[in-house]
Amino acid sequence: MDIDIPQYKKKKSKKTIKKCKHKHKYLPCLIYKWKNIMKAERCSICGKINNVHLFETEPYKTHFNKMLSQPEVLEKYIDFTIYDNETGNEINRELLDDYINKKEGH
Ligand SMILES: [Zn+2]
Repeated sequence: MDIDIPQYKKKKSKKTIKKCKHKHKYLPCLIYKWKNIMKAERCSICGKINNVHLFETEPYKTHFNKMLSQPEVLEKYIDFTIYDNETGNEINRELLDDYINKKEGH
């Protein structure tokens, strides 16, 4: 018995999941990266981190820049949301110390 089985050609469907095209909408935020808090910008649509300020400095006296410590950065940007650079998750500011301690395994 001959059964006519239609031969389907395996379609090479390249389904690359692309985030829909959009103009990144960067909003200032803080990120936790390399065991430090840094100022950055984050796209509110896709969560892409951009424009990371590795070191936060302030003009100090004539031509020196004073590097701000982590608490100073946190205080300076008191309204900014903190995100984990690795996971993209938001970090509760009040639980930041706990979060870091846990993450770094202390
Ligand atoms: Zn985006």
